[in-house]
Amino acid sequence: MPDIVSLGEALIDFIALESGVSLIEASGFRKAPGGAPANVAAGASKLGSAAAFIGKVGDDPFGRFLEQVFREHGVDTSRMLFDSTARTGLAFISLTAEHVPDFLFYRNPSADMLLSASELDREFIAGAKAFHYGSISLISEPSKGATEAAAEIARDGGAIISYDPNLRRSLWKDEKSAKEGMISGLSGTDIVKLSEEELAFITGVSGLAEGAHMLMKLAPSVQLVLVTRGGDGAFFASRRASGHVPAFAVEPVDTTGAGDAFMGAALNQILRRGINAADLDKLKAAELEEICMFANAAGALATTKRGAITSLPTYQELQSFLAKRIH
Ligand code: ADP
Repeated sequence: MPDIVSLGEALIDFIALESGVSLIEASGFRKAPGGAPANVAAGASKLGSAAAFIGKVGDDPFGRFLEQVFREHGVDTSRMLFDSTARTGLAFISLTAEHVPDFLFYRNPSADMLLSASELDREFIAGAKAFHYGSISLISEPSKGATEAAAEIARDGGAIISYDPNLRRSLWKDEKSAKEGMISGLSGTDIVKLSEEELAFITGVSGLAEGAHMLMKLAPSVQLVLVTRGGDGAFFASRRASGHVPAFAVEPVDTTGAGDAFMGAALNQILRRGINAADLDKLKAAELEEICMFANAAGALATTKRGAITSLPTYQELQSFLAKRIH
């Protein structure tokens, strides 16, 4: 049984061959496995966690490719589903001059959107120590109901629930539904991991501490807020502790998936330390700093190579990176 279960979309990322160009200018694209929840499972698995990914892909070569790559990265793919009516979702991504990804999605609908609650293996999910999901699968039914049902099963089973509200404006009907949908996902979660931009979008405030406390007010279940800040590192806040943890200086090549590497690493650390849902809000600042430093290292290493999954570090790689940077 896996310790970490991540549910949501697995997609093909088509990444522009050139850096620093728009999608209009890109001359071609290279295929890479992607989808934030799948990346989180792969990130945690590469660090040694028993992690599973639950999601639907098309019964097509891209879906088979994704399953194969996740499996090669140690992810339990036994509960992945292959849909014969819809294709695997695609995301075309170019990295602008600022190394910020620019996205264009193909999903009309894609297989990931068709996962339904009746297809879930309840026993498998109930055994998880941590359950992670994002906001893309909350955009429409039936994947919304499937995500909510799975989170509830995991919560009833005592898992730490972790949520990454990803802001992908073009996938929602309008800004209002994006905001409401991302907020609805907060309900019942213990950990929220998001970027500064997403925090400001959801809460309407720009201060990190203020925004984090607003999230805890919006959803009383929220015990820990992790804000990833690219080259500025991370900010954490619980009801009793908060702090900034600086990033590691690296030469970034592709920041796609850095946040997922961060989250996979944070969950890996939380479980390695034997922390469970009831302990989260008792964690001291020093321990949260250590967890964020480890996650920052995973995020930093993930930016040094192209692609989201291919660049994820192993536990060994991460430890030797930390040893060199800290001592
Ligand atoms: P997301 O992929 O969700 O936008 P970020 O880009 O904030 O997430 O990256 C997640 C984490 O990865 C950051 O908190 C940081 O620790 C690390 N990271 C990202 N970009 C850089 C960078 N340019 N230099 C060093 N670390 C980085």
